[in-house]
Order: sequence, then C-alpha cells, then structure tokens
Amino acid sequence: MTPSAKSEARQSVLRLLPAVDQLLQRVERDAALKEIPRPRIVHAVREVLAGERRRLLEGLKLTGAAAPPDLGALAGRVVVGLSRAGAFSLAPLINATGVILHTNLGRALLSTLALERLRRVASAYSNLEMNLKVKERGSRYAHVDGLLQRLTGAEASLVVNNNAAAVLLALESLAHGKEVVVSRGELIEIGGEFRIPDIMRRSGAILREVGTTNRTHLKDYADAIGPDTALILKVHTSNYRVLGFTAQVPREDLVALGHARGIPVMEDLGSGCFVDLRPYGFPYEPTVQEAVGAGLDLVSFSGDKLLGGPQAGIVVGKADLVERLRKNPLNRALRIDKLTLAGLEATLYAYEVGDALETIPTLRMLTEPLAAVRRRARRLLRRLSPSVVAALGATLVEGRAQVGGGSLPLVELPTVALAIGTGDRPAHMLDAALREGEPPVIGRIAEDRLLLDCRTVLNVDVPVLAQALTRLVSTAG
Ligand SMILES: *Cc1c(COP(=O)(O)O)cnc(C)c1O
Repeated sequence: MTPSAKSEARQSVLRLLPAVDQLLQRVERDAALKEIPRPRIVHAVREVLAGERRRLLEGLKLTGAAAPPDLGALAGRVVVGLSRAGAFSLAPLINATGVILHTNLGRALLSTLALERLRRVASAYSNLEMNLKVKERGSRYAHVDGLLQRLTGAEASLVVNNNAAAVLLALESLAHGKEVVVSRGELIEIGGEFRIPDIMRRSGAILREVGTTNRTHLKDYADAIGPDTALILKVHTSNYRVLGFTAQVPREDLVALGHARGIPVMEDLGSGCFVDLRPYGFPYEPTVQEAVGAGLDLVSFSGDKLLGGPQAGIVVGKADLVERLRKNPLNRALRIDKLTLAGLEATLYAYEVGDALETIPTLRMLTEPLAAVRRRARRLLRRLSPSVVAALGATLVEGRAQVGGGSLPLVELPTVALAIGTGDRPAHMLDAALREGEPPVIGRIAEDRLLLDCRTVLNVDVPVLAQALTRLVSTAG
C-alpha cells in the first residue's frame, strides 16, 4: 500500500468512531451517573473513545479492516466504569481481615459520641481558640488538656497531627544539634517510612546508639551520656519482639539515671493504652498512666491505635518540657485540627466516664467474647440461601485474628470466620470480586480459602455482606 492509501484507510476507519458529544449525549441521562460530576463523565468518554481508537487501528493493521463500534456498547462501558468507581474515592468498606487496627483500612473506628461531637463542632462556629470567660484568644489544646492530665496523671499535655509528628517535635524541641541516646534494640521501623533513625536525622538530633540488638544494659546508657546528651529515648518495639537471650532496661532505671545526670527521659509508647487489658486475656502492656507514674519526663502515643480515637499524636509529661514543644514553631506545622480535637475529646471523655470498653469500637472488638463473634458468624451463614452456601462452599472455621497497627504484635485473638472458595470459584477470584464490589469487602486468603473474619465485621454489615456473597453467585455463575 502506498503511504497515501495507508493514510486514507486510517482516516476512513477513524471516521467510524462516534464524536465525543455523541457518546456524551448518550450516557449523560443515565440515572446511574446522576451523582457523577460532568467533567468526570467527559473524561471517561474521552478515555473510552481513545481506547476504541487504538482498537480500530490495531484491527486495521492486523486484518486490513475494522468493524464499526457499537454506540450502545461504548456507552455501557462508560456507565459501568463510572458507576463502579462511584462519586467519591475515599469510601467505607467491610473489614473482614480480622485485623482490628488495620493501618491501610483506616485504623480505629470512632465511637458514636465522637462522631456526634465531630458533626456538631464541624457544622457550627466553635470556641476552638477563644476563652469565653475573658473573650480573649484561648488555646485549642485546652479542650483536652484537663482530660489528659486527669487520665494520665501527667502535669501537662500537647496534641499534634500523629505520633510520628509528636516524636519529631519532641526531638527537634529538646535535642536539635545534640545527642539522643537510644538502645540498638529499639531502632525500629514501623512501616509507612517511619524509622526512628530517619526521624532523628530530620529533627537535627544526633543518634547515639547503645547496646546490641538483643541486649542493652543500664551501663550502656550511662557510658554514652556526655556533655552533648540532650535526651534519653525509649521506644516501644511495637510491631516485633526480640525473643530469647534479651535484656532491656526498665523505664524506672532509665528515669533514675536520667534524673541523676540531669537528662530528660522520653518514651514513645506507640499505641498508648489507658486500660489494663490483662483481665481480657491479653499480655501485659504498660498503660500510659503507668509510664507517666514511672517518672518519665515525656510520653508520646497515637490517638488512633488502642486508644480508639481519631488520628492524633499525644504527648504528656512535665510542664516545662511540654511548653517547649508547644512553643516550637514546628508545632504550628504539625497542628491538630478542630475535627480531630472534637473526636479526641469525646474519646477521652469515654475513658473518664468509664464506658470506654462498651462505647469505643476498637476496645469492643478487642474484648468481645468468642461466643459473640461466633453468633455473628452464624447469623451471616444463616442469611445465605442453601444454594449460595453450596456454590461458595461456605463453612464456619475457627481461627486467629490480629490486633494490628503495631499494637500487641504477638497477640492472636480467637475468632470465627466464614470460609469460602471451591474448585469452580477459587478463593482468589472471590477475593477480587468482593474487593471490587460495592461496598468493597476485604478478607484474607489462607490455604486456598477466602476467610471472612467476623471479629472485625460490624453487626450492621452482616446483611450487607450476605448480599455481597449472594451477588457473587448470581453474577459469577
Ligand atoms: C505507630 C507508632 C508510631 C507512629 O504513630 P502514628 O500515630 O502512626 O504517626 C510511632 N512510634 C511507635 C512506637 C509506633 O508504634
């Protein structure tokens, strides 16, 4: 073919493509797209047409001809693509992984009271930074300061965006250009790029590692203290444990050493729990009150791990040190916002009232008896018709759930899961179909079965999950 004949063939094939406006008109009145903004529909139309253009030219190259596209089919692709994606990108889903504090799935769920406070504070002006008694500028931190003092026994508190920010702020405020002594066994990476040595470098503090990976002694700390030492830092090894021949220095001993040498001692507790969970079968974890009671100068922890509140970083400790953190210009960049404060205040309030175990979803899921999880799993199974049960090979299995979020890493909670997956409908296919459904459902695959762990499935989600499972059979079958 001559070059001009080739170009002519191309042109005539491309003339088969509908115009953008033509396809747009066809899809625009589809009820499924009524919440989708027009620019997004236009974009999707262009994308579908670009794909179709490639397909036509490919067909021309391979066969010398191309079939005209069907306008209805193109419109269908636009509608399905857009309505599946939905109007919003950040959206709720069903966590059937059994991991209670799943960082990728948003960690802690807020309590009803926290949601209510958040909504009320967000929909009206508030006294965020106004002291109403004197009609003067007030402090946003005051709204949770009293609560935190009473709950932890500390002299003062400060809340920032998250615990990583709290650690960064503390190091920058107290140890910029100075040395911070940390055990080699605690130079942790939490994931999501949070590494203690990196944070330290960013803060301008100089890391002084002491001891070895498995054993650090008080003498190691004592020998490392010199004229440039500004802080002794203890870090909770949140997501792993060194087992076997190990030695860590108890916080009380570090406090005694620091105070004898005039060096403040800080502990990054990571999760930061207010209630002793041992009565519910959990291993010993120091509570925030205990850490404060041990005499630490600063203690930091997350708002959205075991505490069960919104994302936040909380620092409690000695008033003069907290004041230095608060006055640091960097604090302005790490500042907590009013929605978080409203949710955090309500979360802390539950601990003060004493109903945290019943009202805070994280604690409720952690302490829910196995029998209650089993009842929920049975309810889910009962909602499936016998033909769906057979098609999915659905059975209830006992298993182990995890706390997650770098909290209580070795703990495995007894749980009950609905297991699905057969030769015809293998687990990985069911997993993909559930993930792309509405709402998405996230389970975990173990030994060729997809497990839907009922410890993290909410009661209100049981009927929704049953519907999603039923749809699997009617669409994939
Ligand atoms: C989780 C964790 C952090 C980070 O806390 P975020 O609130 O996620 O920023 C820091 N230190 C330790 C020990 C942790 O476990």
